[in-house]
Amino acid sequence: MTETLSAPKVEPPQKRLFIKTYGCQMNVYDSERMADVLRPLGYAATDTAEDADFVILNTCHIREKAAEKVYSELGKLREIKEGRAAAGRGALTIAVAGCVAQAEGEEIMRRQPAVDLVVGPQAYHQLPELLTRTARARGERIGADFAPVDKFDALPQARGVDGPTAFLTVQEGCDKFCTFCVVPYTRGAEWSRPVAAVLAEARELAGQGVRELTLLGQNVNGYDGEEPDGAPSTLARLAWALADIPGIDRIRYTTSHPNDMSDELIAAHGELDALMPWLHLPVQSGSDRILRLMNRKHGRTKYLELIDRIRAARPDIALSGDFIVGFPGETDRDFEDTMDLVRRVQYASAFAFAYSPRPGTPAAGMGAQVPADVARARLHALQALLWEQQTAFNMSQAGKIIDVLFERPGRHPGQAIGRSPWLQSVHVDGADHLIGEIVAVEIEHGQQNSLKGRLAGQRPDRFAVGDMGKEMTA
Ligand code: SAM
Ligand code: SF4
Repeated sequence: MTETLSAPKVEPPQKRLFIKTYGCQMNVYDSERMADVLRPLGYAATDTAEDADFVILNTCHIREKAAEKVYSELGKLREIKEGRAAAGRGALTIAVAGCVAQAEGEEIMRRQPAVDLVVGPQAYHQLPELLTRTARARGERIGADFAPVDKFDALPQARGVDGPTAFLTVQEGCDKFCTFCVVPYTRGAEWSRPVAAVLAEARELAGQGVRELTLLGQNVNGYDGEEPDGAPSTLARLAWALADIPGIDRIRYTTSHPNDMSDELIAAHGELDALMPWLHLPVQSGSDRILRLMNRKHGRTKYLELIDRIRAARPDIALSGDFIVGFPGETDRDFEDTMDLVRRVQYASAFAFAYSPRPGTPAAGMGAQVPADVARARLHALQALLWEQQTAFNMSQAGKIIDVLFERPGRHPGQAIGRSPWLQSVHVDGADHLIGEIVAVEIEHGQQNSLKGRLAGQRPDRFAVGDMGKEMTA
């Protein structure tokens, strides 16, 4: 008889990781993937920087305020690091990742000596190697002079997921060069992941109980990843393929550019049940003159016609958007064109920002910068209109029965929070046992940011195209 001896498996020691994420959903995805990359090294998530051995700030450079927040957070981290060293409680490693790291890497190292390493958005797969090197020499800076393909190829297959919804990056970068925007400089040229890689990641997520995917990209509807035969795919075809994966019931995608909204994708909104009736389609301004100065390459008429075509395919679609007010040269008349466009479209939710000049972008050098108080007043007026529309949309759900995917427990005992097909947050008491399930909910009332409902006695037929939930009959 032979005996096989196997060496005991040595688990790496537990170390604590705290990642603070700023900005868009793509950064949320990147933070999750950084945690995936670091897990095999023994790093487990912790909720505070005070408890952590390794802190990563995953940063956003889109507006000045977002970038400045990073420096103030670094000041706090430096105090924690120094306090810990003085108390002899072990080292704290600090990394800055994301778009500020990419745009201002050297500046960060100069302004904040407590930072150990700086890593751009295309290089975070190298964190394990960087950590080893940093133990020997501080001051590593790894930029995004890599193709995204290197990063995605190097990321682990396994994904840590938390709940039944997940982000999945399918496209990165931007070639549109809107004159106000830093993204083409910080995230690089447009690139789409191959179809097979996206499907493999989606299957892995479905295997862990994910039922709703949000496909991410700076211009996600321009997706053209390679099919197995080498031909370029489209976002519509990718959505159909993803919907075939057992367990994947819901698909969303963000952010889209109006010029990449193809007829095929619009048709999919009318034909593919899994494609949720929600679309984030930023227009930025309602004034043709400002759209030209922004280099958006579309006018207001084209945008409004596009909305009509999308609504013809999927009448109940909820529309969302982004707006910038106070762009250089914006007059009262231009701003009124934006307000008029918003009144015509009737958004279910949307974001409005005051223009923030970004170094190196063409708009930052344009004359006629709008005074801050004027921009602020316009921002308040636009936000008030958007909130009014959002509240009206939410209130219009009262009395309907809709499908809700429960995602997490609420604040009250027994309560669960889920999402409607239109991306509204829905709070339901006595539903915490249903997390991960899609369940019919009777909406009692809607308010500005959420809906309140109760479990419906019966599940409605699958909600039909053009049917904004069913009227309650009970
Ligand atoms: N690719 C998307 C598109 O075409 O609309 C947007 C991506 S960007 C990360 C998100 C939003 O930030 C933009 O839609 C825009 O409204 C806003 N944004 C970008 N640059 C800005 C700036 N310099 N000042 C204020 N808002 C800005
Ligand atoms: Fe920025 Fe314009 Fe590209 Fe959107 S399309 S990421 S706003 S440059």
